[in-house]
Amino acid sequence: MRVLAVEDDQRIAADLKTALEAAGFLVEICDDGEDAWFLGDTESYDLVILDLGLPGMDGLSVLKKWRANGRDMPVLVLTARGAWTERVEGIDAGADDYLPKPFRMEEVIARARALIRRSAGRATAMQSAGELMLDANRMSVSIHGVPVPATALEYRLLSYLMLHRDRVVPPTELLEHLYGDDDAREANALEAVIARLRRKLGPGVIGTRRGFGYFLEGSGA
Ligand code: CA
Repeated sequence: MRVLAVEDDQRIAADLKTALEAAGFLVEICDDGEDAWFLGDTESYDLVILDLGLPGMDGLSVLKKWRANGRDMPVLVLTARGAWTERVEGIDAGADDYLPKPFRMEEVIARARALIRRSAGRATAMQSAGELMLDANRMSVSIHGVPVPATALEYRLLSYLMLHRDRVVPPTELLEHLYGDDDAREANALEAVIARLRRKLGPGVIGTRRGFGYFLEGSGA
């Protein structure tokens, strides 16, 4: 899952990055409103965490411009404590949830996971397709009820396929959500991860539709 965290307080930004990465997210940090607007308008994120007081362009304006352009990724707004007007304005501008500062990282992670699930129309942390089961709270993978050790990258790949299990996911889209804009964004890197996962999970879990992409077997894609 690819997350953009927009926060100009460097310490909070660093804490967010550390906590979100530990929770298995791919995290990009941005400290300027105008840059954030551009990224959100041109890149594809599974979630944006947005501070409101930002240099360049304030968070509310950034959010309003995204929504006016039809950008519909889930947005978690960070507000000042007690500033109920900010919360109302944030929600009016198109925020999906808000969190007053100071916040605990555990709460950011829980809300991030819930927002991403909800945006994909799923209500619970346990997701399954066929014999494959993912637990978003523990970042754990099991097959036929047997736990399978997975790296953060492997988990991210499986959870993206799980979240979009009603369709075939093109490799380019999968790469973007696995690596962001990193140089590692190569098709053969993706094929290597898929091959490794197939060895771990056994046959009949990750399907390929030639020329289109990947899907989870038993999920109706
Ligand atoms: Ca700020």
